[in-house]
Amino acid sequence: MLKIGHTVTVPRALKGSGEGVEPDSIPIPEELETVPGHRQDPDTVNYYTRNYPLESENIVNYSWASWMLKTSDMKDAFEEHLRLEKPIVVAARGSGDVEPTGAPAPGKDVTEEIKQKALELGFGMVGFTAYDNRYTFKSKRGWVKPYPNAVCVAIEQPYEKTQMIPSEAAETAVLATYRRGGELCLELADYIRSLGYHAQVHSFADAASAVIPMFVAAGLGQQGAMGYLLSPHFGSRHRLTLITTDAPVTHGQPVDYGINAFCSICQVCVNRCPGRALMRDKVWWRGVEKFKIVAKRCRPVMAACA
Ligand code: SF4
Repeated sequence: MLKIGHTVTVPRALKGSGEGVEPDSIPIPEELETVPGHRQDPDTVNYYTRNYPLESENIVNYSWASWMLKTSDMKDAFEEHLRLEKPIVVAARGSGDVEPTGAPAPGKDVTEEIKQKALELGFGMVGFTAYDNRYTFKSKRGWVKPYPNAVCVAIEQPYEKTQMIPSEAAETAVLATYRRGGELCLELADYIRSLGYHAQVHSFADAASAVIPMFVAAGLGQQGAMGYLLSPHFGSRHRLTLITTDAPVTHGQPVDYGINAFCSICQVCVNRCPGRALMRDKVWWRGVEKFKIVAKRCRPVMAACA
């Protein structure tokens, strides 16, 4: 008989069908309890930030981009995506300099307004945390404005196409999700400006930081053994990005959804990964205890199957 350790309230979300999912409670068994978010050593995180900063999205995701451009079927789709996405990327690049259009209501916390608007627009999940500059890519340090808060937004990826991974159809759906998410971010940033605040869009394609740590800090999920954020509504079937802002919002807190322990027992993805790109055990990496994916083992398999 499982003994319940604690109960978590999952955030409100929006499914792709347009159906809203109200907050719900999930009982977490005692044997799956570890820590909210992940175990980490802030001094080590700081040490790596100072001495070995994350360089850029292109380096972090090198294996993905190089696979896209070298795989003949995907190359055309990727180039078409880059063409369609260009206006979104250009608008996002300049977004931090756009002045607010409304007047702020003094002393008013706007968390609920932004959350409601994000769900209305079509984001699957939204959360709030402090923008953690330690995860800013070195290449983007001059671009990121000193806005203290991060609005963490996730957009759901289509279910059917996601079941077809690895394939060109699945990756094309991923790219379309990025574009849709980018457009929604620009709209949400306009809304934040109408409330009287600045908003800088960190576009999916041109990411300024590693975002999963901030999603974990906002309480939207925990990282799973397959290296991505697992959230209660979408598992890993979502795309993530941030809008940073000086709007006054209330930060979420890391949550223990039981994922740290669950993945250590489950291991389905680890055992079935054809590229052996997933690790059975967590490692300490740059000050955080996590499952570390070996990306360069993943993409050759994807390329062979697509
Ligand atoms: S170990 Fe299981 S629960 Fe964790 S990411 Fe893999 S398949 Fe999902």
